[in-house]
Amino acid sequence: MNSPLSGLYVHVPFCRTKCPYCDFYSVTDLGLMDTWLKAVAAEVQFYRNDFPVCDSLYLGGGTPSLLDEDRLGPLMEVLQGEIKFTPDAEVTLEANPDDLTPARLSFYRGLGVNRLSLGVQSFDESELRLLGRRHTARQAEEAVAMARQAGFANLSLDLMYALPGQTLAGWERTLQIALACRPEHLSCYQLTLEPGTALGRKYGQAGKTLFNEDAEREFFLFTSGYLEGEGYLHYEISNFARGESRVCRHNLKYWRRRRYLGLGPGAHSFDGRRRWWNHRSVVRYCELLTAGKPPMAGSELLTPEQVRLERLLLGFRMRDGVELESLAGREEDLANLASRGWLRVEGGRARPTIQGFLVADRLPLCFSD
Ligand code: SF4
Repeated sequence: MNSPLSGLYVHVPFCRTKCPYCDFYSVTDLGLMDTWLKAVAAEVQFYRNDFPVCDSLYLGGGTPSLLDEDRLGPLMEVLQGEIKFTPDAEVTLEANPDDLTPARLSFYRGLGVNRLSLGVQSFDESELRLLGRRHTARQAEEAVAMARQAGFANLSLDLMYALPGQTLAGWERTLQIALACRPEHLSCYQLTLEPGTALGRKYGQAGKTLFNEDAEREFFLFTSGYLEGEGYLHYEISNFARGESRVCRHNLKYWRRRRYLGLGPGAHSFDGRRRWWNHRSVVRYCELLTAGKPPMAGSELLTPEQVRLERLLLGFRMRDGVELESLAGREEDLANLASRGWLRVEGGRARPTIQGFLVADRLPLCFSD
């Protein structure tokens, strides 16, 4: 049974500059912000009855911390006016460390933001420069300290590994500094050279990483072992939480196929059956909404078999895995994967091991017809 509680995502598609590794949709023309804000306010009207109650709100991007008080205040007012949030709703805002000040952080708290996701990426100055980040390592540490001062008890840091020239020892140094900040949550992503990005062009290996498979494994297993040794739960391939209560509630909705509404250019939504997505271009998105039309670019309704495979694909990304019921009749395949050390059966679920995380994308294929 799908929970009636939904998640709300708002895509803030603006960045001051474009980082050379990033392929998220964002534009650097900040002059479009007011039109975008009006468009989001118009878009939520289309869906307010279909997603009446949410227990998570995620302001992602792009760079939501680029929104000043005169824009973020009205945005939250519109969202909270149209959608009912549970009293314990998780409200996350993604922020770049160099945008934060004590006043800005207090403002966020006043708006009900109770979780900050900081785009730190590295605590090494040369790596930060290579990644085109505008902040220094010191600024990231200061941002954490300011957030604590402002009363944030739920902080997540985004970090990247397998960077050009990076060693395991260098990555360990970044993790050490991150852990000294005592974040409640960490997202650790491997750098992938995305097509169309400056780094992808520079290294000419779009879609790949800079390291061979053995080195990638080493980084991944080191990260998992190191953070689990420090008391973090490796609950999803790239995500770690200091205990169950710090797992990101909003992101769980994607992995567990719960209902979510996405507003903004390129945002995806799912009502429990159908998934749809918006036009990526800010200009097109705004044009459609200004003309009173929904900004949908496409939608899909999966077949029962596709739904089954998608459940496995998403489920095997998480330590929780999938219910054994969804693998009924596939006991032999299950035993085979368990004997290879990729899955273990526990508490009525098939759960991927850390080794299983390394092949998570391939696991569902072992249960396809
Ligand atoms: S990494 Fe973040 S700040 Fe950099 S371009 Fe991408 S969305 Fe913008």
